Amino acid sequence: MTNKVIIIGAGIGGLAAALALLKKGIDVEVYERAPALGEVGAGVQVTPNGAKVLMELGLESAMLERGTLSKGKDTYLWNTGQKRPFIALGGNAADQFGAPYLTFHRADLHRMLQDAVHAAKADAIYLDHEFERFEQLASGVRAYFSGGRSAEADVLIGADGIHSRVRGQLFGLDKPQFTGCVAWRGLIPAEAIEATTNLSGGSMWLGPTAHIVTYPVRQGKLLNFIGMVDRDDWRVESWTEKGTTQECLDDFQGWHPHVQHMVRNIETPFKWALMVRPPLQQWSKDGVTLLGDACHSTLPFLSQGANMAIEDSLVLARCLAATPEDSPHALRVYDAMRRPRTGRIVNSSAEQLRRVHNPELADPEIAKAYIEREWSAASVEDRYRWIYGYDARTVPLELTSEVTAS
Ligand SMILES: Cc1cc2nc3c(=O)[nH]c(=O)nc-3n(C[C@H](O)[C@H](O)[C@H](O)COP(=O)(O)OP(=O)(O)OC[C@H]3O[C@@H](n4cnc5c(N)ncnc54)[C@H](O)[C@@H]3O)c2cc1C
Repeated sequence: MTNKVIIIGAGIGGLAAALALLKKGIDVEVYERAPALGEVGAGVQVTPNGAKVLMELGLESAMLERGTLSKGKDTYLWNTGQKRPFIALGGNAADQFGAPYLTFHRADLHRMLQDAVHAAKADAIYLDHEFERFEQLASGVRAYFSGGRSAEADVLIGADGIHSRVRGQLFGLDKPQFTGCVAWRGLIPAEAIEATTNLSGGSMWLGPTAHIVTYPVRQGKLLNFIGMVDRDDWRVESWTEKGTTQECLDDFQGWHPHVQHMVRNIETPFKWALMVRPPLQQWSKDGVTLLGDACHSTLPFLSQGANMAIEDSLVLARCLAATPEDSPHALRVYDAMRRPRTGRIVNSSAEQLRRVHNPELADPEIAKAYIEREWSAASVEDRYRWIYGYDARTVPLELTSEVTAS
């Protein structure tokens, strides 16, 4: 029977899963190692496939209040600043997919989920609990935490992020491979750049060995900046490693003055080495499973890491609620349904790297034709329709369910 579930990790995935389970009447305890809840200062895009889940979780008005509706992005060539406007399935997402495309400050999305979990169960989240290991019992699972504490439940979900200990115990140590690409990210006060660059909307800057994505958060008060650059000398996979403005400027040497201006105004530039992990062949064993980055960390080129974690949460809750008498079966169904889709997104995201960093972008004349071909509204739609069209609320719960659903 699935009466109670333990979730390890109170990130975006763990909190979404807690809420989805509580909404299905399943009791939840979330264990987080941090002494206080919070998120790093950066943006996150919630695309229509993720927004559908938030709507199902009763967060439609909260997400419209705390998020910023995307109007799409213009593309710019890295050195000339030549602009090509396109709506990247942003402004018209609600009409096309039945849910909006939103951008958030990560802390706002995290806080929205946290508030909703607290409203559903006031004492659901246990802070300062570092998960160490689990033990499968004859019926259920026991989790052990630092300080000799433990807790028991019918099911344990590892939503403990890229360096997941739950995954380590289930399947052993992983071997991430460095992509040769480093991501810079940070927030820019919109007022610091508006007058000079007129860039307070969304933009994508494409170059031969780097690209930049920006979008507004907090109703346009801040601009989120992510700059990804081919670079071989930095291999730390962490959200919280700080770099310097000068180092970031060096990585975008020769880029348009508007880019230099944005970089100079990033409040704190953070750098993150982008790693890939081969997709897992299995996520679950008996009463234990994985969710979010713990089982399908991805490169950020399709903006789907958090969206996939949010989708996982609803599909998992639906599976556990559908067969409460047999939780291992429910986990097998979840595993079979989610692995093909998330694997395809992870692979497509990796392929996207050579589209956004392409030698054809070096020469403005050749670049024009390349951008026309690769970034026309039609080719962008072709690449994203299957991602945004997925509906975790209705996808059939089947052991053989498929990737390209809707
Ligand atoms: C540059 C960049 C840009 C991105 N942009 C986007 C975007 O626009 N859209 C999008 O969808 N995704 C984006 N992502 C990806 C997205 O941020 C992640 O996929 C998402 O946050 C994963 O959520 P999670 O809950 O699985 O993991 P996390 O958010 O990492 O949460 C894991 C939690 O587990 C806790 N934890 C870890 N170990 C333990 C332990 N032993 N015991 C207890 N607690 C533990 C951690 O403290 C943390 O709170 C981006 C990623 C990068 C690098």
